[in-house]
Amino acid sequence: MLEMIAFDADDTLWHNEVHYRDTQAQFLHILSPWAKPERVNAVLNEIEMGNLALYGYGVKAFTLSMLETAVKVSGARIEGEAVGQILALGRDMLQQEVTLLPGVEETLNILANDYPLMVITKGDILDQTNKVKRSGLEHYFRRVEVVSDKTPLTYQEVLSKNQIDPARFVMVGNSIRSDVLPVLALGGSAVHIPADTTWEHEMVSDFDDAQDGFYTLNTMKELPELLTRLVSTI
Ligand SMILES: [Mg+2]
Repeated sequence: MLEMIAFDADDTLWHNEVHYRDTQAQFLHILSPWAKPERVNAVLNEIEMGNLALYGYGVKAFTLSMLETAVKVSGARIEGEAVGQILALGRDMLQQEVTLLPGVEETLNILANDYPLMVITKGDILDQTNKVKRSGLEHYFRRVEVVSDKTPLTYQEVLSKNQIDPARFVMVGNSIRSDVLPVLALGGSAVHIPADTTWEHEMVSDFDDAQDGFYTLNTMKELPELLTRLVSTI
C-alpha cells in the first residue's frame, strides 16, 4: 500500500523555468547599455548562487539578485527608472498565469481516486501557495508543503509530520537533485519526469539511474500505470 504520492510543483505540474528565462531575457535588455549578455548572465548566476543560503529559492530572491547584478555591472550607476523596470519584472512573475503541463490534470483526476496526493515544493511560501490556488488543482491535494530547500532532512521532517513511512512514499518531480536524490536517500521511491527546460542548478551529472526505487517517465500520463506496478511490489 502506498501512503502518499507527492508532487513537485514547478516544471512538474506547471511551466516555471520558461518564465525565468523570458524574464532574464528582458533583464539582459534593460542592462544592455552597461554590459554584454554573457557577462550579465555570469554575474547574475554567481550572485544567485551566493544568495541562496540567505534568500532561498523563488521569485523574490531572483528579483533581489537581479537588482544586485544591476548595481554591480553598472558600477552602481544604474538609474531609478531601470530599477523600477527590474522590480516590475519580478512583480509580473508573481502574477503570471499558471499554465499546466500536458496530462497533469487528467492524471491527478485518475490518481486522486486511489491514492492520497500532496505537493512538496520549495520556494517562497506565499508565491507557491498562490500558484497552487491559481492552478485550479488544489482540491486534488490533501496537503501542500512549501519547504526552503529539498534535502533528506526537509523530506524527513515533512514525512514525520504527516506520519508517512518513507518506504511507502513516492515523490514525482522534474529535478534529480531536489525530487529524486533526497527521497532515495530516505528509502522512498522517486519518479523523474524530465521537463523541457530545467535550471542548470537542478542538474546532477553523475547520477546513477540503476538505483532501487528510481523510475523515469516521459510524461505524467504514464504515472498511473507505473504506480499500479509499484503497489504490487511494496
Ligand atoms: Mg521542479
